Amino acid sequence: MDAMNNELKGLVFNIQRYSIHDGTGIRTVIFLKGCPLKCPWCANPESQKAVTPTQWLKNGKIEIIGEWLTVSEVVEEVLKDEIFFRTSGGGVTLSGGEVLTQSVFAQALLREFYELGIHTAIETTGCYSKERLASLCPYLNEILFDLKLMDSEQSKRVIGADINLVKANFELAIGQSEIAVIPRIPLIPSYTVKPDNLIAIIDYLKSLDVKRVHLLPFHQYGSSKYDYLGWDYQLKELPTLLADSLKAIQQMFEAAKLTTVMEGLA
Ligand code: SF4
Repeated sequence: MDAMNNELKGLVFNIQRYSIHDGTGIRTVIFLKGCPLKCPWCANPESQKAVTPTQWLKNGKIEIIGEWLTVSEVVEEVLKDEIFFRTSGGGVTLSGGEVLTQSVFAQALLREFYELGIHTAIETTGCYSKERLASLCPYLNEILFDLKLMDSEQSKRVIGADINLVKANFELAIGQSEIAVIPRIPLIPSYTVKPDNLIAIIDYLKSLDVKRVHLLPFHQYGSSKYDYLGWDYQLKELPTLLADSLKAIQQMFEAAKLTTVMEGLA
């Protein structure tokens, strides 16, 4: 580890161990703060907006969300689970927020892990410049790439994402032969789960000869966080999808010869 890299700091709001939903095998997930989007279903609203610590009121106590950590501090923490990575084929995943918001820190972290021989992954929506994503690619084994709303106007209005930029980044990612890229679709009733949108996603993936996709059903796990933040949560009453609906969606993708994995989290 070189000294400059070692001392670089990033704003981390959670380190979650033993995750099995965020890439191959058992993983430690590092959540980086900051996201320019505003998905109404966001399960980590405390990660949004600028790269500054956020304050919330939880059970009558003020808590500060986000801690500035150096690369070496994060690496030291993650290496405690190295045995699980080695035995499960797992590794470390950078998530957020949007990981590209802190791309310099993310690159420094990924480089360290990659050089230590630890499997590396990111979760991204690809909503920054291609240069940011490209800067991480030399140190990545896997990219979990979220595709949400394919219509340009809806994407901009509902979540604040430029779909052309998202597509450009997705195509950059799948062009990297050394990196396994898994498109992930959050299944949000009345938003991403509309026939036109699902068909547009399927057509897009087929046009790029993508063979597999992960589906992430909507849940309400992040709901209480909006209360802690004092924010209005627009989807409080939105029901989760029933098994029959999930199966029908899965069949749409399978009928298009896309292998699906239904995950536990969106
Ligand atoms: S991209 Fe992810 S972190 Fe950002 S607002 Fe959407 S769901 Fe939340």
